[in-house]
Amino acid sequence: MLNAQFAKVAVPVPLFGLFDYRTGQYAAQLKPGCRVEIPFGRKNLVGVVIELTDQSQLAESQLKTISRVIDTEPVLTSPQMTLLHWAADYYHHPVGEVFFTALPSLLKQGQTTQVSGETIWQLTEAGVQYSADDLGRAPKQAGLLKLLQQTPAAMPAEHLNAIFENWRPAMQGLEKKNLVSKTERPCLTEINTVAQSAPVLHEEQQQAVDTIKASLGTFTSYLLQGITGSGKTEVYLALVETIIQRGQQVLILVPEISLTPQLTQRFQQRLGITIAALHSAMNDRQRLCAWNMAKDNQVQVVIGTRSALFTPMPGLQLIIIDEEHDSSLKQQEGFRYHARDLALVLAKNLSIPVVMGSATPSLETLNHALSGQHQYLKLTRRASRARPPKIELLNICNRPVEHGISDVLHNRISQHLEQNGQVLLFLNRRGYAPLLMCHACGWTTECPRCDAHMTLHQQHNRLRCHHCGHERPAPRSCPECNHEELYSPGAGTERVEQALLTSFPDVTISRIDRDSTRRKGALNDKLEKASSGESRILIGTQMLAKGHDFPNVTLVGILNTDQGLFSADFRGAEHMAQLIIQVAGRAGRAEKPGEVLIQTHHPDHPFLQTLLHQGYEGFALATLNERKLAHFPPFGYLVILRSEASTKDACMGFLTDARNTLPAQQAVNHYGPLPAPMEKRAGRYRAQLILHSQQRKPLHQLLSQWLPLVSKLKSVNRVRWSLDVDPQDMY
Ligand code: ADP
Ligand code: ZN
Ligand code: ZN
Repeated sequence: MLNAQFAKVAVPVPLFGLFDYRTGQYAAQLKPGCRVEIPFGRKNLVGVVIELTDQSQLAESQLKTISRVIDTEPVLTSPQMTLLHWAADYYHHPVGEVFFTALPSLLKQGQTTQVSGETIWQLTEAGVQYSADDLGRAPKQAGLLKLLQQTPAAMPAEHLNAIFENWRPAMQGLEKKNLVSKTERPCLTEINTVAQSAPVLHEEQQQAVDTIKASLGTFTSYLLQGITGSGKTEVYLALVETIIQRGQQVLILVPEISLTPQLTQRFQQRLGITIAALHSAMNDRQRLCAWNMAKDNQVQVVIGTRSALFTPMPGLQLIIIDEEHDSSLKQQEGFRYHARDLALVLAKNLSIPVVMGSATPSLETLNHALSGQHQYLKLTRRASRARPPKIELLNICNRPVEHGISDVLHNRISQHLEQNGQVLLFLNRRGYAPLLMCHACGWTTECPRCDAHMTLHQQHNRLRCHHCGHERPAPRSCPECNHEELYSPGAGTERVEQALLTSFPDVTISRIDRDSTRRKGALNDKLEKASSGESRILIGTQMLAKGHDFPNVTLVGILNTDQGLFSADFRGAEHMAQLIIQVAGRAGRAEKPGEVLIQTHHPDHPFLQTLLHQGYEGFALATLNERKLAHFPPFGYLVILRSEASTKDACMGFLTDARNTLPAQQAVNHYGPLPAPMEKRAGRYRAQLILHSQQRKPLHQLLSQWLPLVSKLKSVNRVRWSLDVDPQDMY
């Protein structure tokens, strides 16, 4: 619309709806998708123009005027805007927050889209030769020159700040003498090499590739199911090559944990071109730079975690979602979107195919594949010659278990080490022990802010709450009765590591969990040593279970299976089954046959029996049947209204009021309000009201009527509340 009087603007505030502004002197320049600065309350905020119009519900005198236009061209593409509108609608989330989720930080802050690479300083040839002693009268320059000579790589300001105080004047001196040159580093590591050759695809892979290729240019969704090592990644690579040859773009979504330099390297070496890997270590400038390159079609391959879905890619022709069952694809706070589900919507809007890969598909996706909504492609055997591992349940009832490891498992570890094997132990619990307890009075290490115990971290001699981060020194004696005998039941990864260090003092042991990989680069170091076989025993949490290749592992031990058997969450068993299969898949990938031992007190549990004898698919079909009878997802739809407050009364009061304003709708049931499974967390009380329906439509119609009423409740001011559509976990 030319010279419209008003603009409807998305503003990043937790309020529903768009805000109208007068376009004023900017009427001629504005386009939907451009950012503007607008007065909002007492502040000036950045907003995105969504629509230009000559009509407003409000009187012109009530409206404020746009204070500044930031962009001359839209920062969001039209397919992005369509997707974000759809998402705001579907997740019933304030549209301004949804639009701002999609923007890189620098754009949210109102900066221009122009971004330069990082400035770096490097020795010139003269600088390399120059003797620092000849700079006698400029000791700072001499010091800086020596430093640069010791570290041959170019240095950004960030590094220099950390090691050399007030280095800039000295650097300028060195620049003037032509000993140092200043350049800009490109935001992505540019690669332009000969692509490594691909293996000849086996028949099933070739068939999958051909089928998917034939559907380029139309919306088709695929489930590509195949165990770890069956060659899914090779299928992706073959498809990506096709897209590249056609000059188009491809987006690859991966779980948080698997976006390691190893994966990026594999893609980069094979394809021989620059790819944009959007990982968490990127700074804001690099992110914006990658975003710009994708928007200008300068980079054809984008790999990233869930938010990479919002990268503008005008040439997008294919979306690949690896490990589509992974729960990190769902955002668990703020705008709670599921990247897989939104990817399907985007693909439909763009008429392009989506490939969802997994060894253990989510029941939602599997159900759609079985019903024909997704096309079902299977890779049924391992790509390399390795045989599938032998899985065995280890009944540990009445058996000696020390530090989480039974005698049988301990013996088996010795055997494998003697035969030059590599051992992987999986335990979904970090720290030394989940709590400390007094032997005299039963006192335990309860977190003062949560309904949970504080975990003992013996290495640092501290107690830490894994839910709120609260920590303090571990006591030597009981704070209640002064008794000196405190014991620590249960085992975490740290304890298992210590026990094995004592049993196998000559063996290199590596623990991989969130605690041991905090230092930048630590995870990659550890993964490399694990892959190369240098670390003989690997102990870890889910970090070890996902996506990494450990070709030398011959024995996998799963230590605390029973935790998952009695989960309060209806998805507990599904997640446990996925983890077991994923961990088991680490064994015997190369030529050595693998063995998997599952420690349990419940070897007859139907869950384990089904999984063992009928595999993941048998388990999944049985579970789908149960869900069908209960009308639970994927045969029903859930929404949770959550509240959080400093008192229980406020928390429950708000949800009770909310329930009382529920419009009559027969097709929707509600449960609660009820306290959350962990009622108190980080000093706040939490409760939830669950809505359930067998059909999606009436549920969403009800939400549209209900939420405006909820947000106007008086009791809303005493709580923090959120809505979770299609919740992944019930907490
Ligand atoms: P997945 O992604 O399913 O875990 P990958 O694609 O990573 O499986 O394949 C597992 C291993 O087998 C990799 O080392 C890969 O290079 C190799 N591989 C895959 N397909 C073939 C093939 N057709 N011929 C030879 N090796 C293959
Ligand atoms: Zn005591
Ligand atoms: Zn806590």
